[in-house]
Amino acid sequence: MKKQLLILLLVIQGITFAQSTTYVILVSFDGFRWDYVNRDITPNLQAMKNDGVSALSLRPTFPSKTFPNHQAIITGMYNDHHGIISNFFENPFTHETYRMGDTNSIRDGKWYLGEFFWETAERHGIITASYFWPGSELTNSHRRPTYYKFYEHNKPYRERIIEAVDWLKLPDAERPHFITIYFHDTDSYGHDYGPNSPEINKSIQRLDSLVGFLHNQLSTTDLSDSVNVIIVSDHGMTEISEERTINIAEMLRDYDCTFNGGGPFMMINCEQNNQEEIFNLLKKNSDNYRVYLKENLPEYYHYKDHPFIYPIILVAEKGWSLLDERAVKRNSYSSGGNHGYEKDLLDMHGVFIADGPSFRDGFQTGTLWNIDIYPLLCKIFEISPRQNIDGKSERIEFLLKEKK
Ligand code: AMP
Ligand code: ZN
Ligand code: ZN
Repeated sequence: MKKQLLILLLVIQGITFAQSTTYVILVSFDGFRWDYVNRDITPNLQAMKNDGVSALSLRPTFPSKTFPNHQAIITGMYNDHHGIISNFFENPFTHETYRMGDTNSIRDGKWYLGEFFWETAERHGIITASYFWPGSELTNSHRRPTYYKFYEHNKPYRERIIEAVDWLKLPDAERPHFITIYFHDTDSYGHDYGPNSPEINKSIQRLDSLVGFLHNQLSTTDLSDSVNVIIVSDHGMTEISEERTINIAEMLRDYDCTFNGGGPFMMINCEQNNQEEIFNLLKKNSDNYRVYLKENLPEYYHYKDHPFIYPIILVAEKGWSLLDERAVKRNSYSSGGNHGYEKDLLDMHGVFIADGPSFRDGFQTGTLWNIDIYPLLCKIFEISPRQNIDGKSERIEFLLKEKK
C-alpha cells in the first residue's frame, strides 16, 4: 500500500514538473491597431514576428470596446455570453450599473459570467498573476489570480514590467506560470490625436521599446528561454470628427428613452408601447448608422443573448458618432479617434504577435479571432477549457509547435 502511495506521489510530481516548464506572459496594448506594426517604427515587435508567429490582424468582439474585449480574450466568449456587454451598462430590472471607472462595480463578480483563464489554470494547479486586466481584481478571492494588482492608471510602465518579472524570480512553489500585463498608451493617444497622427507614432514607439525592455528584464531570470510572450490588443482605432455626428437624443426628444453607449454604437430602451414608432423614426434617418431591434440583430454581431442589452441597437458607420445629450456635454466623441464599431471593420482589428518555445518560428497567418486566445492558452498549458466557450482551438492551434 505504501509503495502504491509512493508511486502515486511520484506520478503527481511528474505531472507538476511537466507543467512547471511552461510560462506565458500575455501583454495587452490597449487600442494598438493591427497595422501599427507595419509603419517601420517597431523593431522589437518586428524581431518577435521574425522569431515567432504573427497574424495579419486580431478580430475583436462587438462592441469593440476595452472591457468587453479583454473579457472575450480571457474567457473565450462573446460579449453577450461573458456578460460584460459594454464598458458601462445597466441592469434594467434593478437599475444597478456596471461602470469601467467605478471600482465597486468592476470588482463585483456577479457581472462576470465567464470563467477567466486564470480561474481555469488555477483549477488545474497552475499559479497565475495579473499586472492589470479587467476582471482581475474581484472581491471574490476564488475568482482572482493568486497575485494581482488594483488598477493604477498612472503606474509607470517600466515598473509594471520589473514587478511582473520579479514574480518569475519567486521560488518554484510560489512562482506564477501565467502573467498578464496591460498598457493603455496607444488607446489614449489614439483617442486624443487619431490613428494617423505623429503623436500615435510616438506612442507606438514607446510601446515597442517596452517590448525590448521586457525581453531585457526576462534575460535577468533563469527562464528567458522558457517564457512565451504573447502581445495582443483589444481593438483598433479609426478617425472621427465633429462634422460626422448624429444627435440621437435630439431626434427622439419627444419620447421617454434611456440611452447607453454613444459614439460608435448605442443601445436604446424606450417606453414599450412606443417602440415600433421609435424604431421607424430611427430607420427613416439612418443614412450613417444601422438600426436594429435586438431580436433581429444579425447573428454575426453575437450580441443578442444577454437580458441587459436594450431592445434597440444602433451601430454607426465608420468614423461617425452617435450622440445623446449627455454625450454632447461630456464631449465623448473625443477629437481624434474612437473604437466600438462593428468587429468586421478592419480599423477595429487589433494585433497578435507571439514568441517563445511553444510557438512556431517565423510563421505568419491571416486574421485571428480574439475569442480563440483562451483555448490557445489551454492548449499551451495542456489543460481542458470550459465547455461553454465560443472560441475554437482548431482556428488557432496551428500556431503552436508540434509536441515531439
Ligand atoms: P475605452 O473607453 O474602451 O477606450 O477604455 C480604455 C480605458 O480603460 C483605459 O484608458 C483605462 O483607463 C481603462 N482600463 C483599462 N483596464 C482597466 C482596469 N483593469 N481597471 C480599470 N480601468 C481600466
Ligand atoms: Zn481598449
Ligand atoms: Zn479606447
